[in-house]
Amino acid sequence: LLNAARARAEAARDLNVLISLNDRADEQAARVQDRLDSGETLPLAGVPIIVKDNINVTGTRTTCGSRILANYVSPYDATVVERLTGAGAVIVGKANMDEFAMGSSTETSAYGPTLNPWDPGRVPGGTSGGSAAAVAANLTPVALGSDTGGSIRQPAAFTGVYGLKPTYGRVSRYGLVAHASSLDQIGPFARSASDLALLTNVIAGHDPRDATSLEVPPAFRAGTPDDLRGLKVGVIRESLSGNTPGVEAVLNATLDALRGAGAIVTEASVPSVEHAIAAYYLISMPEASSNLARYDGMVYGERVPAPDVAHSMTRTREEGFGPEVKRRILLGTYALSSGYYDAYYAKAMRVRRLIAQDFARAFEGVDLLVTPTSPFPAFRRGEKTSDPLAMYAADVDTVAINLAGLPALSVPAGFETVEGVRLPVGIQFIAPALQDERLVTLAGGLE
Ligand code: GLN
Repeated sequence: LLNAARARAEAARDLNVLISLNDRADEQAARVQDRLDSGETLPLAGVPIIVKDNINVTGTRTTCGSRILANYVSPYDATVVERLTGAGAVIVGKANMDEFAMGSSTETSAYGPTLNPWDPGRVPGGTSGGSAAAVAANLTPVALGSDTGGSIRQPAAFTGVYGLKPTYGRVSRYGLVAHASSLDQIGPFARSASDLALLTNVIAGHDPRDATSLEVPPAFRAGTPDDLRGLKVGVIRESLSGNTPGVEAVLNATLDALRGAGAIVTEASVPSVEHAIAAYYLISMPEASSNLARYDGMVYGERVPAPDVAHSMTRTREEGFGPEVKRRILLGTYALSSGYYDAYYAKAMRVRRLIAQDFARAFEGVDLLVTPTSPFPAFRRGEKTSDPLAMYAADVDTVAINLAGLPALSVPAGFETVEGVRLPVGIQFIAPALQDERLVTLAGGLE
């Protein structure tokens, strides 16, 4: 299986999915064989998996898609990696990503863009574009990404696979390089609901090494159509405008399928989502500016020498970070500075609370909420690179969920043909906090 995954990776080289291969993969596979030979049963025995390059794997580079970490080799495993290898999985390699998980297209990577397997002229979404493309192009059956504002769900939608962003705290962040700590969450990509259930059962669960980790044991299973009967699903009204005709058609077809299976579809409202993008960037950028302070070439970051320490730090950051990362450090620092803190950061935190309350109210009458994952399918490479605001707006349907800490799943639900090419369309289901299991049950039911 490992060799097959590597052969697929080699054949799909043009897609630029991987930043590095795991040199210890053969060793890991041999250990799995030994464990099987000694009679152990392993839920993921020999399953090859690719993880995003902001997740630490002993002995591999963790570049975060940045030059500044080009030569950083991790001395330890993230909790999710420890759990995966404990369950018998083999880490094939590390997936390409937007630099420090900032972007929506995997174009800000210092290692070049990842191409969408459905149309190499288009982006795979971001920031976990490498992980999504790995699963879509069949390099591995499953992969891990991280989602701060949509970075698992949007690439899953753009590449036609499942992508789950769990409730904040259900999957340990220990060993995940921080972008915006109050929003970041690791999650799985898969091509089937049962693979999704299998993988999430392995990676979720309490971890004493992450102070925000919750003590809720995972109990995921892929559902059947029976599970859809009587299910109450609310379509978020605010997500119904601004979608392409194809996205609209796929949403309607999905709602029809739900009704056909006996679900009850109603309309719901989360009025404050119209402020979600603004609040998200005013919270994520300040957190990022603080988290990224550690890359100064002293302990972390490829040091650029200079006659004195201050200049060395400046040059390290000047040469190591790309333009989007610098933009966010500047804007984040500005929003946190005295005199502006109340106007920006504190206000955004108030909007964040409002969004959480609006979701709680919307869930009073329904089991799940639904929106498109993205208003449009995969866009052309280069289309939004010169306009940061247009890139930020791509997250319109996803960021509110991170602000509220909720679980959400992008389900591959259909296609839109654009310029003669069939492009996948994803539909996002949102569950109340800690009810992540409902999403995977539903996914199985819809298959
Ligand atoms: N596109 C959003 C951003 O650039 C989300 C990124 C993410 O989820 N990591 O911040």
